[in-house]
Amino acid sequence: MTTRDDTKTRLDALRVEIERRNPAQPEFHQAVHEVLDTLAPVLAARPEYAEPGLIERLCEPERQVIFRVPWQDDQGRVHVNRGFRVEFNSALGPYKGGLRFHPSVNLGIIKFLGFEQIFKNALTGLGIGGGKGGSDFDPHGRSDAEIMRFCQSFMTELYRHIGEHTDVPAGDIGVGGREIGYLFGQYRRITNRWEAGVLTGKGAGWGGSAIRPEATGYGSVLFAAAMLRERGEDLEGQTAVVSGSGNVAIYTVEKLLALGANPLTCSDSSGYVVDDKGIDVELLKQIKEVERGRISEYAERRGASARFVPGGRVWEVPADVALPSATQNELDENDAAALVRNGVKAVAEGANMPTTPEAVHLFQRAGVAFGPGKAANAGGVAVSALEMAQNHARTAWSPTKVEEELAHIMSAIHTTCHETAERYGAPGDYVTGANIAGFERVADAMLAQGVI
Ligand code: GLU
Repeated sequence: MTTRDDTKTRLDALRVEIERRNPAQPEFHQAVHEVLDTLAPVLAARPEYAEPGLIERLCEPERQVIFRVPWQDDQGRVHVNRGFRVEFNSALGPYKGGLRFHPSVNLGIIKFLGFEQIFKNALTGLGIGGGKGGSDFDPHGRSDAEIMRFCQSFMTELYRHIGEHTDVPAGDIGVGGREIGYLFGQYRRITNRWEAGVLTGKGAGWGGSAIRPEATGYGSVLFAAAMLRERGEDLEGQTAVVSGSGNVAIYTVEKLLALGANPLTCSDSSGYVVDDKGIDVELLKQIKEVERGRISEYAERRGASARFVPGGRVWEVPADVALPSATQNELDENDAAALVRNGVKAVAEGANMPTTPEAVHLFQRAGVAFGPGKAANAGGVAVSALEMAQNHARTAWSPTKVEEELAHIMSAIHTTCHETAERYGAPGDYVTGANIAGFERVADAMLAQGVI
């Protein structure tokens, strides 16, 4: 019989082995540890999951592709970037996950994102496996023509690894509608196929789903609202701090406003803006989506209610709810302590792994409702799966239908996480609930499909 002690010893040994075999990948280690830390109760309760090799297989990507991406800038100079696609787990469906273009990208970052994606995608209840990709390309300050040439070069290698039944990329940091357009165009040209379901996040007129751009931000606000409701509170009338000013942050702000909450902040790498009247989402969209400008311009154009705080972090602004929506490890223990001191009630991760493990523990000890990204930001990939469904059926749903489906999926994810946490003796712990519920679904499929 497997005891809790045996399980813990085995998980500890596995952790050491993973660090040894994947050196210099701290974010990947962090993501794996965070999941393994919560699995002991389910492994002890369900001996079939403790089968030798199951967790080991789950932590090893099925396939990892690394490739050269050469491209020419507007002056004719040649640049060489590195491209990645990590196809982590396909037990539940084709690999699914975004592409990130950012100078910080390396194999460890893509592996952490791909690993998280497995559980997040499982939680949606839809048929999608987990993967992630990207490049260390820095789109900042590049012309449209340079972005296009980069995307074309990237796809010239990527196309052979993807397909609507194989691997379906989408956007992430640095990859939005413009980049998906260039990537899709090159895929179509090389393959001579109209294969709409090979990428998601496409334009509305050529196979994209309504509400896909909004889905991640809308979903994380719905998740925060569900956590508050569980505690007998309402999101309406609450103040919120939001970090970031990309796709997730913008639509987080939009949904907060729609539900009667007051989003006070947004940020970029240069600092943050705080707006006492609440962020004006149309101005934010104009600056970030149309002009691709900096967040400081928001304060310059908004008038007296807003100010720009160079180099600051939004977490110092008192608020009822926090929605970290920028990037990994952007909210540390000190930030969490400031939020708790200022009375924060709920935190929902719009970004992937934005909260450090120490900060997560601090929130949990303080009794703050904490929604991990795997659950809280799953709305984006969920609507991607709905985009795939529409593509396969050669149809397009109305925005109302997609938004209803999104609300239904987010509510189901909240209930699943909540009930799973309770079942395994960790009531109110959405981290344990999300990890175990996602794990159970993937593990059942892996066990049924044999040792592959
Ligand atoms: N990059 C998003 C995520 O982190 C979306 C992935 C997708 O739509 O495939 O979940």
